Amino acid sequence: MPIRQLSETMINQIAAGEVIERPASVVKELVENALDAGARRVEVATAGGGLSLVRVVDDGAGIPASELLLAVARHCTSKLSTDIHEIRSLGFRGEALPSIGSVARLAIRSRTAGSDAAAEISVEGGRVSAVRPAAASRGTSVEVRDLFFATPARLKFMKGERAESSATTDVIKRIAIAFPAVRFTLSGTDRSTLDLPATENTPEGSLRRIAQVMGSDFPENSIAIDAGREGVALSGRVSIPSYSRANALQQFAYVNGRPVRDKLIAGAIRGAFADVLPRDRHAVTVLFLDLDPALVDVNVHPAKADVRFRDPGLVRGLIVGAIKQGLAAAGIRPATTGAAGLAGAFRPGAAAYGHAGPANGHRGFDPAFRANFSGFDPGRSPYRPLDMGFAESAQAGFDAGPAASADARAGTGAPDETLLGAELGAARAQVHENYIVAQTRDSLVIVDQHAAHERLVYEALKNALHSRPMPAQMLLLPEIVDLPEEDAERLASHADTLSRFGLGIERFGPGAVAVRETPSMLGETNVGQLIRDLADEIADNDTVDTLKERLDRIASTMACHGSVRSGRLMKPEEMNALLRQMEATPGSGTCNHGRPTYIELKLADIERLFGRR
Ligand code: ADP
Ligand code: MG
Repeated sequence: MPIRQLSETMINQIAAGEVIERPASVVKELVENALDAGARRVEVATAGGGLSLVRVVDDGAGIPASELLLAVARHCTSKLSTDIHEIRSLGFRGEALPSIGSVARLAIRSRTAGSDAAAEISVEGGRVSAVRPAAASRGTSVEVRDLFFATPARLKFMKGERAESSATTDVIKRIAIAFPAVRFTLSGTDRSTLDLPATENTPEGSLRRIAQVMGSDFPENSIAIDAGREGVALSGRVSIPSYSRANALQQFAYVNGRPVRDKLIAGAIRGAFADVLPRDRHAVTVLFLDLDPALVDVNVHPAKADVRFRDPGLVRGLIVGAIKQGLAAAGIRPATTGAAGLAGAFRPGAAAYGHAGPANGHRGFDPAFRANFSGFDPGRSPYRPLDMGFAESAQAGFDAGPAASADARAGTGAPDETLLGAELGAARAQVHENYIVAQTRDSLVIVDQHAAHERLVYEALKNALHSRPMPAQMLLLPEIVDLPEEDAERLASHADTLSRFGLGIERFGPGAVAVRETPSMLGETNVGQLIRDLADEIADNDTVDTLKERLDRIASTMACHGSVRSGRLMKPEEMNALLRQMEATPGSGTCNHGRPTYIELKLADIERLFGRR
């Protein structure tokens, strides 16, 4: 076949293959256009999961009748003038409308502020109509019907209606977080209505929008992140570990206001939470990165969800550092969702009492009631950390002699005055052989001794791990791992760091490294796999966190085995020693699996439970 120029429609259909993957991509492109046009209201409606209909109506600037033909022509945009490095709008490729028009039935009706009438244009499977006068108020309405009718092969790849509509909901939620001052509605026969009333472009407005999208309990179960380094600013919120999810769908990231799905950011979040969450749990996060547009490339993929940073190591370091610092500063702080449940469990039903109880039976239990599970700032703790080395020495403190007698364990007599002033108070009793009941001046504290001790052992192990070279185990025969030359080069340049972790490697010819030692803690390990993972990570992020994370995970497993089992009776001194260690150890509010290690119930709340207030 001779070489021929493709038809305009085929070119657009090829572009559509990348830009318009499913109905949610149509919604994303149209909503981005509305926002670029300065809309304050964006109404989205769908039918049949978006395959039969997507309609987006906005009150933005509108398109002049004279430009409607250009709007649906390829590579025509009002957003990019000269510099591809200065992109501040969501769109810039001039590709979305022509792509949609080539695979569906597209109708655009628009009116600008200055004109006294609207105009409309339609495109069906690439065939463009004439511009016609129409009636409409200011703004733009875009309707897309029968998506992929012109490319039936694509239609076959669509998931069910439910999956497609929920992908659209996700798109709206993601973008709405970046535009708190815009009202979004999403409705249709195929879904329940989502209405996000406008808030403001202020930190408080942004937080209210985040609560609308993530759930009203997210703000109180998350901590604020605010950090900056070398011209890159990071802000947002991350959940406390006990408020985690089974997947990473609730992780939202924005680069200069653009929603992105970025491997680097996701990896940094995972790294930051590696200590406090098990592998199969995921933090809930909203993170905004703001930097000079010249330092980030958004033109990586036509769907514009991928970005490339000029300095990936800086961005990763900033995210990991800021989250870890935030978690440490928040100290030990379990989720309040547990508190709400607890209040519910205490609720005295009328039946249980056999009489009506207080005039307002629910007085003490209004929905706003939250047991105050306050955290504390380890920096303020009057207690110095016990000098713990390895697990054994941490364990030693709890192996002091035979189990105490029941009398010794019960908190008879007056509690020690000075201990009452401590964050976790004075231990008063051990109940059900696993819970330490302690008392502060104004609250009751219940500690899960197994979870708490496990956390302490883990922190001690990790400290030991990172403060001295790791013990290594020599391989009988060095293992040669073949790699692309660049990878071998990169690994060799990190050889010093790796050897501190007990991984001894050397260059072995151009395309291989020789592994002579591996960290003893890893035991039998797939050396080739480890080396390749490390090479990938260095290529992506210029760090060797993979190895560190693996070792931390092993420390976590070891800690679990080396901890005080529940069921062990403890003396008052032992219990108090545990409380003091918890106060001195950052992050000890949750165990390695992200569960709380203690809960605190304020006296005021207890009084409310009894209807005394
Ligand atoms: P891009 O957004 O990359 O510029 P599109 O194909 O999505 O490309 O849109 C082409 C042009 O049509 C935009 O540059 C803009 O001028 C105009 N346009 C599209 N949608 C709207 C809208 N909702 N309001 C105002 N102008 C719009
Ligand atoms: Mg666009």
